[in-house]
Amino acid sequence: MKRIEDYVISIPDFPEPGIIFRDITGILRDADGLKLSIDKIQEMLEGVEFDAVLGLESRGFIFGMPIAYNLHKAFIPVRKKGKLPRETVSAKYDLEYGTAEIEIHKEDLRPGMKVVIIDDLIATGGTVEAAVKLAESLGAEVVKIAFVMELAGLKGRERLAGYDVESVITYE
Ligand code: 5GP
Repeated sequence: MKRIEDYVISIPDFPEPGIIFRDITGILRDADGLKLSIDKIQEMLEGVEFDAVLGLESRGFIFGMPIAYNLHKAFIPVRKKGKLPRETVSAKYDLEYGTAEIEIHKEDLRPGMKVVIIDDLIATGGTVEAAVKLAESLGAEVVKIAFVMELAGLKGRERLAGYDVESVITYE
């Protein structure tokens, strides 16, 4: 029986020299890998009460949507700036060079809603931290944050102190 880490393809020097990119398409192209990845995230949500999955563009859509569907929850996309057609709230965050901005439809979250945030990978934690801020700015409660992969050396988890954070696999 293969483990999730056996499906991830590690690409040295992508997208720049010195970076090892963890490629999830190796998981997705195999029916067993795909099922295992969704099942593993879903196991993390056992006993968690929530209303909606917040999926982070774009790989968070891939993993977040089947889980929302399986558990009969709503799916709300958190997208890069400029993609959502209705009124949005947005949050900026730092990248290694420059900044990025993500947004969410303002009326899609209401005060008191409980949400689970799903993405493929946490590196520095900047992206997910911005998503948490967006959700909370609209009054939602983040009850769980789940990743397929965690790059522990970048200490992204430290930005999420106080939240319930879990990853299927961790790279040191
Ligand atoms: P962070 O904001 O935590 O530094 O970066 C996480 C975001 O960048 C995630 O949305 C993730 O999709 C993307 N990302 C960064 N490095 C990798 C990587 O090695 N593999 C994959 N699949 N995504 C990455």
